[in-house]
Amino acid sequence: MTREDKKDNLLLSLVIPVYNEEKNIRPLWEKISGVMKTLSPYRDSFEAVFVNDGSVDNTQLELDALHEEFPCVKALQLLGNFKKAAAYSAGFKYARGKWIITMDGDLQDDPDDIPLFLEKLEEGYDYVSGWKYQGKGNPYRSLPSRFFNLIVRNLMGVKLHDVNCPFKAFRSDVIRTIDIYGEQYRFIPVKLYGMGFRITEVKVNNLPRFYGRSKYGMERFLRGFFDLITIFFLEKYLKRPLHFFGLIGLFFSLIGGATVILLYIVKFIAGIPIHERPYLFLMGLLMTILGIQFISIGLLGELFTYHAKRDQDHYVVKKFLD
Ligand code: UDP
Ligand code: MG
Repeated sequence: MTREDKKDNLLLSLVIPVYNEEKNIRPLWEKISGVMKTLSPYRDSFEAVFVNDGSVDNTQLELDALHEEFPCVKALQLLGNFKKAAAYSAGFKYARGKWIITMDGDLQDDPDDIPLFLEKLEEGYDYVSGWKYQGKGNPYRSLPSRFFNLIVRNLMGVKLHDVNCPFKAFRSDVIRTIDIYGEQYRFIPVKLYGMGFRITEVKVNNLPRFYGRSKYGMERFLRGFFDLITIFFLEKYLKRPLHFFGLIGLFFSLIGGATVILLYIVKFIAGIPIHERPYLFLMGLLMTILGIQFISIGLLGELFTYHAKRDQDHYVVKKFLD
């Protein structure tokens, strides 16, 4: 029997990406197992899937030892450091639980909050996001993420306060209905929301890091900004790029074209030669060309999505009475 056949034969999988967290693994597991012991029926039907994302410290040794001691501790070791997104994909593939909870392996997510997530899943939600409502401490980190969340909330209508919170829970088959690649796991809630899944959030603790270092620095800032553009574009215009580029193109070419035509009218009626208004003429031409460029890009986009996306479902079936 392959791992694939055993899908969903457990109630819960915890998926925990770890990169150089040797000192955190054991205390984290002890906290998790302490909490899980109190949770029936989950305590007899869960696994903790640690995904070792190419650690170069003793993380793997710690995981080997835990796995020896506790059969429900699984350790998936990746060959190198493929980054968190890849670690998640791998973890989801190997997880056997009907439900999945993701959390960081650095003890910043509090296992005591696990029951909150389970409650919401039991209520029937498909996706439960954590919300680190006490903020993330450092303003350099919390400001961009607050801004990001604000935009996502207002622009996309996803009613979450902390879209990128690593502590979340969802039905495992839900995550299999969308294809995530690269950094796209960051947009999972937005995608799910767009498809009509039931989404909610729970307030969670944010603990300080005791051991090890954070792996991310200031590039968060830029990444958040690009994320916004991606998310906006992908969600709103993935299937109709011409609507996006075409609108901009139309705007430019209409203004540009009107300017040039106006100059010709003035020339024939009032006899004022076009070269007396060189800047206006140039601007008119430039805007017309720019507009046509935008429209062409939109058309290319249409061509591209037609070929790339036509096989992919953009809907989810709830039930089929056969
Ligand atoms: N992590 C990972 N691969 C990486 C970087 C980080 O698996 O390349 C893990 C890390 O071990 C931790 C989680 O992702 O469990 C979050 O990382 P970190 O604590 O550095 O991020 P922060 O809390 O600063 O956002
Ligand atoms: Mg952390």
